[in-house]
Amino acid sequence: MATSKAEWLVVLDRALSTERNPEALGSTLRHALEELRGLWRAAPSDFSDADIAHLKGLRSIEQSVAAYESSYEEVSSVDTVDDCEELMGDLAVLLAALAGTAIADRIRRDQRALTERLGKLDAQAADRYETDRVSRVREVERRRAARCPHCQAAMVLRDGTFGLFWGCARFPDCVAKRQVLPEDLAFIERTSRGEGRTE
Ligand SMILES: [Zn+2]
Repeated sequence: MATSKAEWLVVLDRALSTERNPEALGSTLRHALEELRGLWRAAPSDFSDADIAHLKGLRSIEQSVAAYESSYEEVSSVDTVDDCEELMGDLAVLLAALAGTAIADRIRRDQRALTERLGKLDAQAADRYETDRVSRVREVERRRAARCPHCQAAMVLRDGTFGLFWGCARFPDCVAKRQVLPEDLAFIERTSRGEGRTE
């Protein structure tokens, strides 16, 4: 059991260089820093300016570890692209603050897991966008109920090289085509990728 300033500083150093469990590290840091504060209050003259500066640095590390303690579980549960990106931003800040400690390795592992998750979430968002777009296309077809000017068959919306167009449902027997109204195009495309991602 540590009792002196020097011993508590050794405890802190060892925890920072070996402990990868956020709760265990946070608990050790809080306990050791509290003990050190007690020692400082009892005998301030035992602490040099350099000691105080060192303890302030450790206090700031302790706060970063506490922030990691409260967010690392989200790494396995985050389920939207936005939340994933936000968490990645938070982890980048924590990694910079905790560089050189053992827990930094764990944060880097979280970052790799999040990058992989982000790829999956992006693909899901793209699927949702596509499904949404198809349902809007069908809605415009129903609403306009356009008829082919040549054979009176129904006109359907098709994706062509130059975008959506109305084509005769009897294609290839009938090759009639018409342009899509700008307001219909706007309606179909209004679900932007960005909006779809936050759903
Ligand atoms: Zn036709």
